[in-house]
Amino acid sequence: MADSVKFILDENEIPKAWYNIVSDLPEPPAPVMHPGTGQPVGPDDLAPLFTMAAIMQEVSAERQIDIPEPVRDIYRQWRPSPLYRAYRLEAALDTPARIYYKYEGVSPAGSHKPNTAVAQAFYCREEGIKRISTETGAGQWGSSLALAGSFFGLEIEVFMVRVSYDQKPYRRAFMETFGATCHPSPSNLTEVGKKILADNPDSTGSLGIAISEAVEVAAQRDDTKYSLGSVLNHVLLHQTVVGQEAIRQMELADDYPDVIVGCTGGGSNFAGLTFPFIGRKLRAEQDVRVVAVEPANCPSLTKGKYAYDFGDTGQMTPLVKMHTLGSSFVPPSSHAGGLRYHGMAPLVSQLVDLGQVEPTAYSQTECFDAGVTFAKAEGILPAPEANHAVKGALVEAMRCKEEGESRAILFNLCGHGYFDMQAYMDYSSGKLADHPYDESEVAMALAGLPSVA
Ligand SMILES: *Cc1c(COP(=O)(O)O)cnc(C)c1O
Repeated sequence: MADSVKFILDENEIPKAWYNIVSDLPEPPAPVMHPGTGQPVGPDDLAPLFTMAAIMQEVSAERQIDIPEPVRDIYRQWRPSPLYRAYRLEAALDTPARIYYKYEGVSPAGSHKPNTAVAQAFYCREEGIKRISTETGAGQWGSSLALAGSFFGLEIEVFMVRVSYDQKPYRRAFMETFGATCHPSPSNLTEVGKKILADNPDSTGSLGIAISEAVEVAAQRDDTKYSLGSVLNHVLLHQTVVGQEAIRQMELADDYPDVIVGCTGGGSNFAGLTFPFIGRKLRAEQDVRVVAVEPANCPSLTKGKYAYDFGDTGQMTPLVKMHTLGSSFVPPSSHAGGLRYHGMAPLVSQLVDLGQVEPTAYSQTECFDAGVTFAKAEGILPAPEANHAVKGALVEAMRCKEEGESRAILFNLCGHGYFDMQAYMDYSSGKLADHPYDESEVAMALAGLPSVA
């Protein structure tokens, strides 16, 4: 059995610019709308919440956006991240497929998220901001921003989804070690949180609720900006270092993916790996199939509606056109907390609508089965979210076996699961359950979508 092989790039091959897929889309993205006026929002509407740098990137149509040197300097600590050919996994599956994975778990927070956290914190410092408020699901985003905040001397305030706050105390300890403050959400610290607790004192929380709380805090103070770890164009943009490196590493492997697989919560790790490849396809340079994997109990791409909706449960954000289950829908709890979001990045949604991305959904237990198979062969324990990408890749690999075809499969191993051992304990003891979502709740949430002319 061949050992798995690692393709490593030199530090000077860290990309010098992020890749903006908007430049290659056949039509411009749908505008972001103001819920009150029904008109497109302008930079001034967003200025209380975001830095000017982030806002300009959010609306940019330039293909390349330079990565500031101080950000590249920090990237150097773990980038370029490795890309592996998974020979041992191929042997374990007895598949003719050639399986590759890009591993983002080598970052100090253990996932892809510092790629954007460092950039966002840098721009805040440049613009004289003192504090950043944010939400976190499973804790990876809060950890990443806590880390970036300590690099740039910023105070970080994190609203952590209640169910994860209880499930993942080590993530909270991580954030606090880097000096961040962490509250369970919903909390009594905001009007939105108080209202939700009044209606449902046992609320497990959701990303949509935690976003509302963080936005409320940022909107109240001039020295505070809000930061989002996924969904928005500028966040996806910052992640494109992943795919640009992967293109170069596939060259070193003397191969090119026939299919690329990523898991989708808000869409950022998926976009990071796939957008540079999809750009090549849109420019008619090289073809590729792209598969998005979401959890079966939070299926925004496969069961949601492509429509304007709020980004948060408290309906404080502008309206974006995306695949959504409705902003009032609270997804059932699962260990893949990073995938429990009612919506999806507008750019990923648009690419699904254009037929450039094939969405699929799998349940938590089948994803853990895949993750454990992967771990035994490759020696890395994936994050519960990343198990969804592993599952998608295994499905493709088994298809190759059935068809007797050798295709190249590339997936994003977007994070490790070493803070998620409770999930693996539940899995081993047979306690990991699939909690289906309530279809009537989604129907109700979708019936309440805002109307946009
Ligand atoms: C946050 C997170 C996700 C979900 O967010 P995306 O924006 O969809 O990438 C997935 N995997 C890991 C490891 C995460 O930390």
